[in-house]
Amino acid sequence: MAASASGDGILSPLDVERVRRDTPGCADVVHLNNAGAALPPRVVVDAVIDHLELEARVGGYAAADAVADRSAQVYVSLAELVGAEPDEIALVENATRAWDMVFYALASQFTEGDRVLTSRSEYASNVIALLQVASRTGARVEVIPDDDAGQLSVDALRDMLDEHVRLIAMSWIPTQGGLVNPAAEVGVVARGAGVPYLLDACQAIGQLPIDVADIGCDFLSATGRKYLRAPRGTGFLFVRQPWIERLEPPFLDVHAAHWVRDDAIEIRRDARRFESWEHSVANRLGLGAAADYALTLGADAICERVRDLGDALRRRLRSLPGLVVRDLGRQQCGIVTFTLDREDPFTLAARLRTEGINISVSTIDFARFDLGGRGLDAVARASVHYYNTEEELDRFVEAIARGP
Ligand SMILES: *Cc1c(COP(=O)(O)O)cnc(C)c1O
Repeated sequence: MAASASGDGILSPLDVERVRRDTPGCADVVHLNNAGAALPPRVVVDAVIDHLELEARVGGYAAADAVADRSAQVYVSLAELVGAEPDEIALVENATRAWDMVFYALASQFTEGDRVLTSRSEYASNVIALLQVASRTGARVEVIPDDDAGQLSVDALRDMLDEHVRLIAMSWIPTQGGLVNPAAEVGVVARGAGVPYLLDACQAIGQLPIDVADIGCDFLSATGRKYLRAPRGTGFLFVRQPWIERLEPPFLDVHAAHWVRDDAIEIRRDARRFESWEHSVANRLGLGAAADYALTLGADAICERVRDLGDALRRRLRSLPGLVVRDLGRQQCGIVTFTLDREDPFTLAARLRTEGINISVSTIDFARFDLGGRGLDAVARASVHYYNTEEELDRFVEAIARGP
């Protein structure tokens, strides 16, 4: 693809006009809540609706059989997207369930005195699980300090390691800011110490190039609806091959295991042991279509444009009086957070919605270590995707400046 200015000032190898034409929602809203749920491209919407129509015509089981090859292909596409093998991928209904499957499997071995290390930016659902297990087992949850730039300190992590550390669990990009944590550097340390490494890639999938071999994570959890642009209610898990048979899922069903004798079961040998038998076939096909769409555009081109738009938005916002950009980190992404002197984030988000602009609010309930530690209850969050334009950013910034 040739580089083009594509209707705005940012040079990009992406054909922005084309991706906007592919995205029905672009005609209706200025969508800056891609960290919440991105607008799906038409191919994703069609994949879901076509399958629901087929189910309505021939019945759900016959419909599933009719698309069995395409369903199998979803694993191949996701594996390609993260540099894994198809049998290292499990499809689940959201990222939290993916993360939980690994965490609770590991946690069944935790005892008093074990240590679990996590990031300051960690997502609430992960921390809730960590604290539940800590209170049950006596394992300790310890938060790895940030460095001066506000990203996880790899030196601090190295200093914290000893033979009692059972897990490193880190959010690569947090829900509440532009920070990109040093996932691969953490991987080097985890590998060196032989500690399992669970990477929450919810905001990274569909935004950053991902290669699980480069990163060195043993497990990676991801959601469909955010930067990957898949339907809601989709997610997936990567489990590195040697770990699959060592991890017993916290619960099993007739897909995850075989009932081989009256008193015996056998658990599957691939990552699908972490899946459920019942699932939305339509949503899975939508997830596969979203992965294929991202693969076609290319992770580097996507990443570059999202980053450039994020930087462009931060520059614009910093020019507004009474506005403080709150993003941390050395490397920053398409998630932009800020606070305003004269309008609280909830009022701002509600007002903008009536003007056809979607943003969201990140609250302390989702990130207590991070936002709480910085004395922030809530920040406005505008998260850009490659289909956004500088013109949309201008509209957004003007709407903020106009005030309530
Ligand atoms: C959204 C998010 C999650 C949870 O994903 P679900 O698919 O809603 O379970 C986990 N971690 C981070 C960093 C997130 O942004």
